[in-house]
Amino acid sequence: MRLGVPALLGLLLCLGLLAPGHAAEPIEDYSSYQPAHKCHPAPKTGTAVLGRWVVRKFGGRPVGGARPCGRKQGVTSEHQAGRAFDWSADVRRAADRRRVKALLRALFEPDRRGNEDARARRMGVMYVIWADRIYPAWNGFRPEPYLNSACEQRSKCSRTLRHRDHVHVSLDRDGARGRTSWYADRQAPHSARQPSTSEAGRADGPA
Ligand SMILES: [Zn+2]
Repeated sequence: MRLGVPALLGLLLCLGLLAPGHAAEPIEDYSSYQPAHKCHPAPKTGTAVLGRWVVRKFGGRPVGGARPCGRKQGVTSEHQAGRAFDWSADVRRAADRRRVKALLRALFEPDRRGNEDARARRMGVMYVIWADRIYPAWNGFRPEPYLNSACEQRSKCSRTLRHRDHVHVSLDRDGARGRTSWYADRQAPHSARQPSTSEAGRADGPA
């Protein structure tokens, strides 16, 4: 997902000839992995705003956001910390694959200053999982093979745990709180509640 920075564009920006919206603001660095600790069984402000933006821009529907915190296992998923949402997309449908491709392009394309993965960084995206691949911020969002820790092997893993029927997005703590630059001029959600997820009961690890 990393692209080169056109020198001419950089020069124009230095001269103040281009200053589009967020591009004029300092951009956040890539998120580190920030595991879920504290229970927050409702989407946090940034999570809700981003989830609604995805549906409004790319269609589909939310299929999971908040998730109850287990008493025995504690908080094992960003869903339980209000920092994750799931978005409907079936890998078997061409139209859905196109929707996901459009979302990933929007998240990872460079801005006019040449900042790579610009929206994802401004949103505080920590990682995305789709169709057996994870796109982790701490590795520059380069896709890597993904296997849920509840699955010993891919062939025995459900479509949901393989994320072949939905896209998962996790935010870092600042992004989930709506404190990164992408949220600066966006309204707080009217409701903090979203439908419960269909992938409850999973084990530890990114999901
Ligand atoms: Zn999820």
